[in-house]
Amino acid sequence: MKILLLGKNGQVGQELLGALTTSEVIALGRDEADLGDQASVTQALRHHSPDIIINAAAYTAVDKAESDEAAAMQVNATAVGWMADYARRHNVLLVHYSTDYVFDGLKKQAYTEDDTTHPQSVYGRSKRAGEQAIIDSGCQALIFRTSWVYSVHGGNFVKTMIRLAKERDTVSIVTDQIGAPTSARHIADITAQAISAWAAGRLRAGIYHLTAAGETSWHGLATHVVRRMLARMDEGRASIAPLKLQLENIKPTTTENYPLPAKRPKNSRLDTGTLSAALNVRMPHWSVDVDAVVDRLIEDDT
Ligand code: NDP
Repeated sequence: MKILLLGKNGQVGQELLGALTTSEVIALGRDEADLGDQASVTQALRHHSPDIIINAAAYTAVDKAESDEAAAMQVNATAVGWMADYARRHNVLLVHYSTDYVFDGLKKQAYTEDDTTHPQSVYGRSKRAGEQAIIDSGCQALIFRTSWVYSVHGGNFVKTMIRLAKERDTVSIVTDQIGAPTSARHIADITAQAISAWAAGRLRAGIYHLTAAGETSWHGLATHVVRRMLARMDEGRASIAPLKLQLENIKPTTTENYPLPAKRPKNSRLDTGTLSAALNVRMPHWSVDVDAVVDRLIEDDT
């Protein structure tokens, strides 16, 4: 099977390069396939003529999107529609990623795939429009909605917290947004398993929720990251300078006290039961991969 991976330089794109070991993978970045340019995308598709397209590219600057709606819609919806049309016409599987931000976050329980979407931000609307473009095209697709993605690559909250722990003596982090931090590596591993299951007729096309297990707040995640850093330093496993930030100085705050341009869902929890059952896998608790990424980042630093 020949896989064309778009967005090879992103967090998920980078991890997919390591996870897709059993197939021929052609990986392209923005320079080779620009989602702002229809000719660039269709040329890449025609030239490589893949059996499977994986779209890991996206406009992910959530706050910037509020004042840059045309660009977010272009990358997250219009270009996805081009891929979906190609996939339908050539009978190719399209693998795509979406987000907890398609929901409003008002539900008390975790969201299932059947729950009604109600995005509250430009980014959320653009990602929902991408999902809809795929559904409307009628192509074979696996759409994975995930949340709070981090990895050793790119910019993300875990890396930001590691930096802040060294630079700042106090930070305020929100306690009233709940979700599951999900590593790009986990997403990539499950994607590889899902593609195999789909090829073997064991997984139907459709939307699936794909996150780590468990839940926490951004404050809980921040505290966990710093606690892990301190533990590794105590064990002598990381020889970084003493942290400026002490655990008690990670102050809890609320979304209302920390206004940002884009509205975030307070409940970002996604129910992964359907995908877990279909693939016969248990999603690991979110703390497992957070620990692994923190360890790698602070070891790389020493
Ligand atoms: P990243 O922001 O790490 O990577 C996105 C990639 O898309 C970048 O490599 C970027 O290229 C590329 N890209 C952006 N615009 C274009 C364009 N016009 N043409 C070609 N490539 C472009 O994203 P993640 O890996 O974190 O996200 C993967 C998926 O998961 C996305 O669909 C995202 O919406 C979804 N998701 C992400 C979450 C998160 O917290 N990050 C949460 C929930 C869902 P370049 O490197 O050149 O900028």
